[in-house]
Amino acid sequence: MLQQTSVKTVENKLKVYLDKFPNFSSYRSKKLNDLLSSWSGLGYYNRAENLFKSIKIINEKYKGKIPSNKFELLSLPGIGQYTANAILSIGFNKKAYPIDVNIRRLLNRILDCTLTDEELERVLDISFKNKRNFRHFSESMMDYSSSICKKSSPLCNECIFNKFCKSAYKKFDKKILKKIKHQNLEFYIIKKNNLLCFIKNPSFQFYKKFNHLPSNLDKKFISFIKFAEKQKVMSFKYSITNHRFKINVYNLKNLKINYQNIKWVKKTELKKIALPTLFKKILY
Ligand code: SF4
Repeated sequence: MLQQTSVKTVENKLKVYLDKFPNFSSYRSKKLNDLLSSWSGLGYYNRAENLFKSIKIINEKYKGKIPSNKFELLSLPGIGQYTANAILSIGFNKKAYPIDVNIRRLLNRILDCTLTDEELERVLDISFKNKRNFRHFSESMMDYSSSICKKSSPLCNECIFNKFCKSAYKKFDKKILKKIKHQNLEFYIIKKNNLLCFIKNPSFQFYKKFNHLPSNLDKKFISFIKFAEKQKVMSFKYSITNHRFKINVYNLKNLKINYQNIKWVKKTELKKIALPTLFKKILY
């Protein structure tokens, strides 16, 4: 959950999520849509899908226990080198080095070079070969770097490495703030009696697994509908991960739809189906 998502955002969701999915066996009776509903608001929904697939494999192949072998971990959907190493060192206290952005920055500054993650792993292996508590080691490296060897203003005065760090007291550029551009995006609310129109195979890239409102990106859909009136209902700015949008929502009225790739959902059923936060904001 924390991958490219802030601690604050995850904190607000975690308890509710864990109430619904307290352990691996609780996933057995659930569908992907149940998980997506609980994930709503966290973004990067392919993580939820990968988590769901991985837990299914863990339940079926590994009797509900996470494998502690790197090769088996890497075979699970969504688990790459970093996550496998984090599970091994933090979860199992085994020898493994999860090189995250913090550890990478700290080591590269101390050595004043830019090494690959494999090279950094070798440096750690040689430097700390007698370390026994890999769990504490990995976590402390991450925390030390994020709180002392900060990205733009490292606290070199307070750093225990300042005597031999090759980058000690260097000036690091502050992030230059660029003017953020918002992409214009339209979503359409189309009603028929007490039914609401959702599109299948939407073109908008972020919520493909969800029930999805039609948008101006769905060119084929637009070419198949004729409407007499387009009424603006709301307009707001919205961010999804590091993408910024100016969202305009319209009611399309008096229309004829000659398009198969849609589905109609009863308005009374809306709270029961998987919707991302953006569509909840539009529809609730
Ligand atoms: S001395 Fe400064 S640059 Fe070097 S590791 Fe410490 S905080 Fe980072």
